[in-house]
Amino acid sequence: MNFNLSSESEEIRLQVEDFFAKEMLPRHREWVQTVCHEHKEPTFLKELQEKAKELGLWNLALPNLAKDEPGTRLTNLEFAPIAEILGRLPWGSQVFNCHAPEVPNMAMIQALATPEQREKWLFPMLNGETRSAFAMTEPDVASSDATNIETRIERDGDEWVLNGRKWFATGGAHPDCSFLIVMGVSDPDAGRMSRHSMILVPIDTPGLTLERELRFLGWADFVAPIGQFSLENVRVPVENLLGERGQGFKGAQVRLGPARIHHSMRCIGMAEMVLAQMVARAHERKTFGRSIVEYDTVQKWIAEARIDIDMNRLFIQKAAWLLDTSQDRNTWRIVSEIKVAAPRMLQKVTDRAIQLFGAMGGTDDTLIHHAHSYARWFRIGDGPDEVHLRQIFKTEPVPEWTIADCPYIAPEGF
Ligand SMILES: Cc1cc2nc3c(=O)[nH]c(=O)nc-3n(C[C@H](O)[C@H](O)[C@H](O)COP(=O)(O)OP(=O)(O)OC[C@H]3O[C@@H](n4cnc5c(N)ncnc54)[C@H](O)[C@@H]3O)c2cc1C
Repeated sequence: MNFNLSSESEEIRLQVEDFFAKEMLPRHREWVQTVCHEHKEPTFLKELQEKAKELGLWNLALPNLAKDEPGTRLTNLEFAPIAEILGRLPWGSQVFNCHAPEVPNMAMIQALATPEQREKWLFPMLNGETRSAFAMTEPDVASSDATNIETRIERDGDEWVLNGRKWFATGGAHPDCSFLIVMGVSDPDAGRMSRHSMILVPIDTPGLTLERELRFLGWADFVAPIGQFSLENVRVPVENLLGERGQGFKGAQVRLGPARIHHSMRCIGMAEMVLAQMVARAHERKTFGRSIVEYDTVQKWIAEARIDIDMNRLFIQKAAWLLDTSQDRNTWRIVSEIKVAAPRMLQKVTDRAIQLFGAMGGTDDTLIHHAHSYARWFRIGDGPDEVHLRQIFKTEPVPEWTIADCPYIAPEGF
């Protein structure tokens, strides 16, 4: 296992760090004002995206970029430290076209699309000209078991007809979102894992309605606003089937690896940003004649945050390295492990940061509550903790010995 970066990828990381410090961080207050308070897109965003593109800092999160696809191909391991930098700001990844749900959606379209679909749907995304959303979850069924999904997809001549309800489609409520990737039942009589297909649905198709924008814990995803949709006799051409008919779940697996690991990488960046603020604040505030940083509890919180962040970073590097080198059962297990571990770590760090900051910790004046909400949703989205834990449990081998003949137990124990 080697987590060293090549000199080329270290160079790219340094370029991103420099770009972040000079071009992005100084604009963050303007971003908050424009996006969070005025609900507009800041004019500088497109300018920064163009600059990033010119520097080759574009589509850095797609390890399978083909020769004709714009961007710089990095491995998952090479992207990890970059995702960490971008994760410090809610809008960091967007500048480099490395944000969710675009990256997982692009990875899935790259893997499944026909040449015509690639031209029509993938290239505008790769160029940052459009946005998309993945619509699987439904309000009416427990969607952590995705085989419950009920939206109907029926063939009628040269068209698919879709009926159903979807919610929590991240990015679906963004004004630039031009299409949804809808998961639904196309083959109701087939086996449990072969009943579902995915269909590309342009956002302006008659019958597709954005019912409302959703918040989670009062937190709005300003980068990829979350949509709830209804589909009533939505008709699209048969060529809008993505991947094989009845193989929707198998196809959707492609997006899970990048979605889970990239969110985990961003958790590290957020936790670092929060920890730095904790340390600064603890040094500045005084209570009962002492600086807050002198209290044992606070020192313990800071030290534990450091341990948790460093452990998770290493864990992510291992998962990224495995994703790059061998995509076997062991790889998927560790991706599940980090998907559980990283948001738990971030939740713990941010909870303590809120406490340490006092009232300010829960206001819009810091990003701590953003990071806290991010951690909390990520423990549910992309598969709740419990579903991952069950999968991880299943991979744990049962020893060949019983406790009575366990070689590690002294005979007199029985
Ligand atoms: C902010 C946010 C963004 C999201 N973005 C998207 C998106 O872009 N596209 C999309 O399709 N969906 C998205 N989702 C939805 C998300 O994937 C689902 O919420 C998730 O899969 C859980 O489904 P559910 O909400 O229906 O919960 P349910 O399926 O009703 O599950 C509820 C709870 O049951 C428990 N549970 C379930 N299974 C087990 C088990 N095997 N063992 C033990 N306990 C279990 C868990 O505690 C789980 O949290 C998003 C969600 C959030 C919060």
